[in-house]
Amino acid sequence: MAKTDEVLFELSRTITDFIQSIGSFQHKDKTYNLIDNYAASKPMECGVCGNYPIFDVSIIRSENGNRLSVGNECIDRIANHNISDWFKTYRKKRENILDNRKYIDGLSKILSAYMQNSLSPQIPSEDIEKLRDTLIQMSNGLNPGIEQKQHADSYIN
Ligand SMILES: [Zn+2]
Repeated sequence: MAKTDEVLFELSRTITDFIQSIGSFQHKDKTYNLIDNYAASKPMECGVCGNYPIFDVSIIRSENGNRLSVGNECIDRIANHNISDWFKTYRKKRENILDNRKYIDGLSKILSAYMQNSLSPQIPSEDIEKLRDTLIQMSNGLNPGIEQKQHADSYIN
């Protein structure tokens, strides 16, 4: 599996943990759980307040299987957690990781080859440190600076 796919898989697992940490909550005398959140490709209506259009959609499900699509303000209020920001950050991280796929895959190859001493010519150790920092940053969903990218480019290309 390419490094980027591993990183994305690890990131996707944080959703399960986050949803579990929310637990169940009450809405109109019924118990609900958050089951999903996504960026809708077409405008939708909030099933709690009727607000239209909403694009960030949380899906909640009651004990008897009733599902509602809920907008950001309502989900944060009824679940009493900052769910909308968490998913915004999640999606931004995911987008950054996808944008940096070339670097994440390329740097992880260079660094693992370095670890196995199979690279020639030898890379200076301070450059290895820099490349490692860049890889960690990108794997955490952050967008590195132009200088970091140029430095990585000089090794990847
Ligand atoms: Zn609403």
